[in-house]
Amino acid sequence: MSERVSMTVEAFYAPQEAWLEARMVPRGSHLVVFLRDVTVRHQAEEAKARSAARLSLLQEMTARLSAAVSTEEVGAVLVRGAVAATGAELGWVGLLEPEGRGLRMVASEGVPPELRRQYEYIPLDAALPLARACLTGEPEWLGSLADFEERYPHLVEFVRASPSHAGAYVPMRAKDTSLGAITLAFARSRTFSEEDRGFIMVLAHHGALAFDRARLFDREHAARAEAESDVSDQVRARRELEAVAWRQRFLSEASSLLAGSLDYTTTMESVARLVVPELADWCAVDMLTAEGRVENVALAHVDPSRLEAAREVIRRTPIDVSAKTGAGKVLRTGQSEWVPDVTDALFSTVARGPAVLPMLRSLGVCSYLCVPLVARGRVLGCLSLLQTGSSRHYSEADLRLAEELAHRAALSVDNARLYREAQEAVRLRDEFLSIASHELKTPLTSLRLQLSLLARLMSPDSLEQVSGKLGGAHRQVDRLASLVTTLLDVSRIATGRISLELSEVDISFAVHEALERLREVFTQAGCAVTFQSRGPMVGWWDALRLDQVIVNLLTNAAKYGQGRPVIVTVEGDRDSARLTVRDEGIGIAAEDLPRLFGRFERAVSVRHYGGLGLGLYISRQIVEALGGRVSVDSCPGEGSTFTVELPREGPRR
Ligand code: ADP
Repeated sequence: MSERVSMTVEAFYAPQEAWLEARMVPRGSHLVVFLRDVTVRHQAEEAKARSAARLSLLQEMTARLSAAVSTEEVGAVLVRGAVAATGAELGWVGLLEPEGRGLRMVASEGVPPELRRQYEYIPLDAALPLARACLTGEPEWLGSLADFEERYPHLVEFVRASPSHAGAYVPMRAKDTSLGAITLAFARSRTFSEEDRGFIMVLAHHGALAFDRARLFDREHAARAEAESDVSDQVRARRELEAVAWRQRFLSEASSLLAGSLDYTTTMESVARLVVPELADWCAVDMLTAEGRVENVALAHVDPSRLEAAREVIRRTPIDVSAKTGAGKVLRTGQSEWVPDVTDALFSTVARGPAVLPMLRSLGVCSYLCVPLVARGRVLGCLSLLQTGSSRHYSEADLRLAEELAHRAALSVDNARLYREAQEAVRLRDEFLSIASHELKTPLTSLRLQLSLLARLMSPDSLEQVSGKLGGAHRQVDRLASLVTTLLDVSRIATGRISLELSEVDISFAVHEALERLREVFTQAGCAVTFQSRGPMVGWWDALRLDQVIVNLLTNAAKYGQGRPVIVTVEGDRDSARLTVRDEGIGIAAEDLPRLFGRFERAVSVRHYGGLGLGLYISRQIVEALGGRVSVDSCPGEGSTFTVELPREGPRR
């Protein structure tokens, strides 16, 4: 007011648990304040920041885990990181004993001294969440005392007396075997969101991989010690020792390099540069694209003047994924290829056409390795290492090192991709939230208006008008209620399955009834409806859910039908029933067809048609839960036909 300027501030308003934006504008002697609820945006931003923070933490942990050499070191890094990242009160990491009878603690954080002894060793046969997680391979999420009461009643007293009242018990698995488990205990009750669970499970997975490597290292260490004790082999042992140390250094350097990058072209270029000249004279990285093509994304050569020649060879010998040898085979099978001594005969099989052969020879390749880049069971690409001259031939240790490097590079690429997907999901959700709140607001505004009109009309002689307005208010409440039900259905589908109440249902009658209810809707849309059926068609279905599907298809036909006729048909035979809803409206472009049944998917602009893009998604989930299929056939400008096919005996058990 004193400076006569407008200002905008944002603040958290505790009584409403809302973020408000206040724009303050001085007007004469008054200050006008505009308030806007920006909670949704705040929550979305917080979620985004949290997921970004978690990703960078994950990358950092992966790097640290890779650098940790012994089992103890891995345990310490894992438990400390997990506790810090999740805000847990206590963390515990244990490995399965070789005989598999129990878990022995390797590291812990925050365990009170009086409980230390108890946590040293956890037997596997006890009815404990940790043991169960280990035995089944599935994590146990116990968010509150109530969860313990429900699942582990005998532990309730112990938990009540202990300082923490919620726990996550997650098995650590690598290469399909359980290595151990991690426990995180929380002081206060909490819910483990999808994101929390995913994050903790990824941590446990990385931990498992690191433990697996540490075990290999421990074994190598033991073998080395044995070799060293043999005096005559001392020199060799020393060399091996140096080699092992070098490999560890190389990998940890690679890991920190990989941790920093979120974009795979840069990642792969740095991998290629790291490999040359330490491990190869030239190195190529080829990735499979989404369309299944092979793309060379990085190439490095010790001698920059030969780089062009190498590139030319790559151009002339494109990778063929059906090939019997070489990179094509590695990409197809996910298995490494190792050729310690490259012969001239091999050149001839690789070369395509006589012009290439001399080029290959002139490069002087003498040894060759190609390893796959695999993440979560999928081959993403391959890393080829070549040695020229005759200085060095690849050993099995080189092969293992290259595989380990490729493994880490693939994880990093996969992390980056997951991150992009997570960002996309957050964006989609934000967009959806804004549409949803808009959709919810429209009937609310109208409802409010109707009610204030109603208040004004409240005189004894205005009864007729009042009941008209009441009807309007009711319709808006119904609309609001149905929007809310839709949102609830989506969350129900997301968290598990939709529950069905099966009984004998006549689909012909159900359609007939729905058409009666929707008569007004079709009249307003100007669509004449024809219903064709040969009498009752009974099946073992859920009446309410089936009605939901029918109503959705009918209202879509009215909404997108451009006032032209709509034909509804029910037919079928002994085994199955078929419902078709055909309109002659705007139709759907071919490229939009495959995605329409997805969550939030729409093919029309928000400006022209309202809607959440959830109706078809929910319909499909229901139809599939009933053991059936829903499909669409459409041509833009000519109309659409939606078909639902349902087995009459209902869903298979
Ligand atoms: P909503 O109609 O609320 O957007 P739906 O999931 O019911 O959501 O439909 C998804 C999208 O499919 C619609 O946005 C529209 O683009 C398209 N669609 C559905 N039914 C028809 C139809 N009968 N004709 C043309 N387009 C349709």
